[in-house]
Amino acid sequence: MFTKILIANRGEIAVRVIRTARKMGVRTVAVYSDADAKSLHVAMADEAVHIGPSPVGESYLVGDRIITAALETGAEAIHPGYGFLSENPDFVDKVMAAGLVFIGPSAASIRAMGLKDAAKLLMEKAGVPVVPGYHGDGQALVLLATKAREIGYPVLIKARAGGGGKGMRRVDSPDDFAEALSGAKREAKASFGDEHVLVEKYVDKPRHIEVQVFGDNFGNAVHLFERDCSAQRRHQKVIEEAPAPGMPAEMRAAMTDAAVKAAKAIKYSGAGTIEFIVDASEGLRPDRFWFMEMNTRLQVEHPVTEMVTGVDLVEWQLRVAAGEKLPVTQKEIKLDGHAFEARIYTEDPTRGFLPAIGTLHHLQFADVAAGAKLRVETGVRAGDAVSPFYDPMIAKLVVHGPDRETALTALADVLERTEIAGSVTNASFLAALARDVDFAAGDVDTGLIARKQEALTAVSPTSLETIAQAALAASGMGNATASSDPWNALAGYAHFHAGARRTVLRRGEEEIIARISVRPDGRFDVALDGAEPSGHSVAISSSKGENTRVARWPGHVTIFEGAASYTFAIQDPFAKAADAEAGVASMRAPMPGLVKVVKAASGETVRKGQPLLILEAMKMEHTVAAPHDGIIAEIATEGAQVTDGTVLVRFEEAV
Ligand code: ADP
Repeated sequence: MFTKILIANRGEIAVRVIRTARKMGVRTVAVYSDADAKSLHVAMADEAVHIGPSPVGESYLVGDRIITAALETGAEAIHPGYGFLSENPDFVDKVMAAGLVFIGPSAASIRAMGLKDAAKLLMEKAGVPVVPGYHGDGQALVLLATKAREIGYPVLIKARAGGGGKGMRRVDSPDDFAEALSGAKREAKASFGDEHVLVEKYVDKPRHIEVQVFGDNFGNAVHLFERDCSAQRRHQKVIEEAPAPGMPAEMRAAMTDAAVKAAKAIKYSGAGTIEFIVDASEGLRPDRFWFMEMNTRLQVEHPVTEMVTGVDLVEWQLRVAAGEKLPVTQKEIKLDGHAFEARIYTEDPTRGFLPAIGTLHHLQFADVAAGAKLRVETGVRAGDAVSPFYDPMIAKLVVHGPDRETALTALADVLERTEIAGSVTNASFLAALARDVDFAAGDVDTGLIARKQEALTAVSPTSLETIAQAALAASGMGNATASSDPWNALAGYAHFHAGARRTVLRRGEEEIIARISVRPDGRFDVALDGAEPSGHSVAISSSKGENTRVARWPGHVTIFEGAASYTFAIQDPFAKAADAEAGVASMRAPMPGLVKVVKAASGETVRKGQPLLILEAMKMEHTVAAPHDGIIAEIATEGAQVTDGTVLVRFEEAV
């Protein structure tokens, strides 16, 4: 076994690999960019090496720098995680040329599966069913249109170099083919620098079912059953599970056989996934699945397989890379229970899932109910920032139960009780999906989310009680009554100030003025102005309802109600005066929005009134100008999604 490995990744997957390495007594080296200097994976590793500025092209994708870091720290092997350099055969060649071990398949295996068209040819030869379609060299419009007609509409145009659903177009009629083709090529060229496409039959009621395979350097290959990843949004996985619901034994045998055949055909070593597309229009049938592509790395959703098989796939990766044989035979791998994984992203489902950034001031994952098991895979801690440089996935919640229903209920439950404040997340959308009747029935295809998107992303309007609770929490008046000390219980009752305490909340452009007073029964009267409908008074007690939880974070208060959360900015009555006196040290976004244009750079000296950036919010553009002369220490990135209160510009301290 290795004594030290380097992990060429960041976030949750770097943390995940470090955990297993530590368990095995293998020392770890993390690499990090500027933005990640203080991140969890760096804190957890035994050593860490800085590899460059925040953009991935200058850090996590610079193979040479990573190899140098491994050599300098005396690491013997490199684990690539997923994404970044994990499926780059040239990187694998360089790693080996440097005398290091790549913890993954050979460069030849990656190349064989790298392009979808070549991979399909190879699989056809190996006797694995592939999606009917054209994957030849010809790229002329007339040829491809003719092939599309032969295949029969609807068809799917796919970039051969594709990934992440990019360069993919569904075409329903010959009239739309030419336009869809040029769109797919344009996107493929922009994303992958390769505009070569293939045309496939568009599978009806498609389900995405993939098989986890594992090979070693002695010609052994096994499967670890299937995962169902049909819950997708724009061809991106949202909730994954293992095993696939409703999978007949006969079909499972056919699919896993085909997957092992595929792995053996390329002498595959390490963890890999064979992705199949399944036509579920008449239920699951052994003659209705076809090879789509192979991912020659560990998948994001690998934990669901680990939960139902009890295997640590990262441990196997290390063992196989170190030259050991697969630790078990196929017969010894057993399915146990059911597992789900939900991917939590900082993105806003109510605004087309726009990615968001921010600081996760409040982050609390709930416990799982008795009878189920929970694994939280995350690369962040409370107080960490989500930067605009990387994928905004902050955690994966992985739940296991003895059966599908128990596991799914537990997942929905955990999602509803997880509290994240400081950035918007998709948690309530995930919870709604976990509670969806069709999803619960296992009746899921890749179009389910799109069909139900409106219902799944609906937010119930904020009640006056919620606003009143937020105002009470913001005022600090209700806090002490949770204590059993009778004197504290009277904290809200202040005979030395007459009348009500005034608190101002802001949400977007809406300003809510709350006047809070204590009633003789110890409850609070909250009179609200500015909230719809205005001029209302609500009586509440500070002990929240069972489902309501409150988080205070800098300048804000968030109320959690079931899966929903409501965030308000608290207007600080002293802020304005202080700003005027000291000169503003930083400028914050007054509302959630998109940084459309940045007109100044850090280090630049600016004059009062000079436009610094344009923030697009509420469908309008707002110019943010310098409040005084000064030097910019930090400024938001163009294209960044910001939340209410995010620092847009920070000035150097005046000397
Ligand atoms: P990418 O590499 O870009 O992720 P894939 O080939 O893995 O592309 O396909 C991504 C998703 O697109 C699949 O999970 C499935 O939902 C859908 N898809 C792919 N091929 C087909 C097809 N022939 N018919 C219907 N849907 C498909």
